[in-house]
Order: sequence, then C-alpha cells, then structure tokens
Amino acid sequence: MTIQTILITGGAGFIGSHLCEHLVNRGETIVCVDNLGSGKRENIRHMEEKKNFVFIYFDVTDSLEKLEKELTQKKIGKIDQIYHLASRASPIDYQTYPVETALANSLGLNNMIKLSMKHDATILFSSTSEAYGQPKVHPQPEEYWGNVNPVGIRSCYDESKRFGEALMMAYYRGHNAKIKIVRIFNTYGPKMRKDDGRVIPNFIQQALNNESITIYGDGTQTRSFCYVSDLIDGLVRMMNSKEIGPKNLGNPHEMTILECANNIIKISGSASKIIFKSLPEDDPTKRQPDISAARMMLGWEPKVNFEEGIKKTIEWFREN
Ligand code: UDP
Repeated sequence: MTIQTILITGGAGFIGSHLCEHLVNRGETIVCVDNLGSGKRENIRHMEEKKNFVFIYFDVTDSLEKLEKELTQKKIGKIDQIYHLASRASPIDYQTYPVETALANSLGLNNMIKLSMKHDATILFSSTSEAYGQPKVHPQPEEYWGNVNPVGIRSCYDESKRFGEALMMAYYRGHNAKIKIVRIFNTYGPKMRKDDGRVIPNFIQQALNNESITIYGDGTQTRSFCYVSDLIDGLVRMMNSKEIGPKNLGNPHEMTILECANNIIKISGSASKIIFKSLPEDDPTKRQPDISAARMMLGWEPKVNFEEGIKKTIEWFREN
C-alpha cells in the first residue's frame, strides 16, 4: 500500500483529532492544519513527535501562498487528500464567531479546493445536517433540499455550509475538481470540549457535578447521536470511494432531548435533577439521518450504540 499525504484542516478539533489519530496509526503522512480557534493543541500533542505527523498553525481564510510556504518549509511534497473540517460547529461557538464561521466554509474552503487542484488531490468537505434546517421531511434523505432561515442566528453556519456544497459542485462542474461532500449529523465522544455548549458535553458535565441538567424547551425535540469512531470510519470510506455525494453520515437512532438527559443521568449514576430553560431561536424540532445511501454505496453503518458510546464518553470526561 502506498503511503498517502493527507491534509486535515481543523485537525486539532474534536472530529479532526480523531481522524488524524486514525490515519497516523495507519501510517499515512498527516498534515494537521488548525488556527486553534475551537481546536486544542492537547488533542494532537501526543502525535507531534511522530515522524508522519506535522502540525501547521494556520487560519484557512488566510492567504494560500502563506500555507504553501509553510508546506515547503516542512518538506511536504505532493498532497493526495484533503479533509476540510475547519469550522466551529457548536451553536454557541459559531454564534459567538459568526463571520469567522461563515468564512471558514466559503473563503477557507475556496483556498483548500484551489490547493487540492494544484496537487491533483481529492478534497472532502464536511457539510452538516444543519443544511436541512427545520426539516419538513423526516428522516432526512440527501435529496431533500431543506428548510433553512437564511438570516437567522444559525445562518452563519448552515448557509455557509450550503454555500460550501454549492462551491464544491461549481469546481466539479466547471473544473473537474475531485470532490466529496458529506453531511455530518450530531456526533459525540471523547475530546469534545467540555465548555463547547453542546448538549452531550453540557449534560455529562452537569451529571458528573450533580448540577441541574438544563433542557432547552420542553425536551421533545429530537436528535440522533453518532459515536465518533463510527463517523471517522464513514469519512474515510467516503474519501476512498468513487462517490461525490452529498452523503449523510450519522446514527439513525433518534431520541428526544429529555430521553438523552435521562439516559445520561442513569448511566452516570448522577443525582442531578432536570430543569427547563427557554428554547433558542431556530432550534430544529427533529433531526434523523436517512443513511440508506451510505449503507448501499459505502457499505457503512454505525456500530456503537448510544449506551456503549456514552459510557466511553462519560469515562473520558471523568478522567480529563
Ligand atoms: N440542548 C439542551 N440543553 C443544553 C444544550 C443543548 O436542551 O444544555 C438542546 C438544544 O436546544 C438542541 C439539542 O439539545 O435542541 C442539541 O443541541 P446542540 O447544541 O448539541 O446541537 P444542535 O443539534 O442544535 O446543532
């Protein structure tokens, strides 16, 4: 097997650092690019002494020439694959940094597509289930165009991801770029930032500290949570397939946020009580991936059930 050189933007983030780890262990040469906006150096520090791992501190919206200089300095030759994961993904984070988020998925993606074309590399763009917005079709198949508020508080994220998909298709149709698009549904696991504001880290932190579990709204809204190792498997399969996408990647096991809270209280053995807070604007009432396409075309489906995945995640939160 020939060794590939793989550049991962957002490589120090939650999903990115798991992907780096997986591919470094496979013996590939990994170039991790991150501006540490929401990613953390701790996530990758244990890989930094390895010969097949390089970290470049860089903001994807900065000039491409600057990145290319860094690549030359670090003696990186031809790049074979690029995963563009760089973007804040937690609603609280991206609403705090709306411009940075919008540009990471547009200007930043444009830079990375140009880089991929110079190297004749394949580029995979991580889009999102948010592309479906407040869905009127349930579960959501890839053919559904979505129902997104273009000027709402989530628009810096979901509209920039939708634009990113359009930009990828434009380069594919206009310039034969080698592209892949995936739509990632809610993912959880070790290395999520404890303070990132998303539901799983919040509930686990609250449960472990025996604090009140904060449900926004009445808790009847649903999400479908995928364990991170399953997602990584899906990303790598997609990258190495003949598919262009978009393809949904997520776990179709759907639950209400109230069920999620009760599960976490039970599994962690917590004494926490549930309290209800107001529901943020434009918070989707339901979300579940239809993964028939990924099952058929990639031979992929999630293997880790919620109980198993959440136990591992709670364990990590306890120890870190
Ligand atoms: N949520 C909640 N309590 C929290 C954090 C989130 O009830 O402390 C809800 C949130 O309103 C949403 C769901 O959990 O309905 C998932 O939120 P998250 O921020 O994880 O991501 P989203 O799927 O909305 O992008």
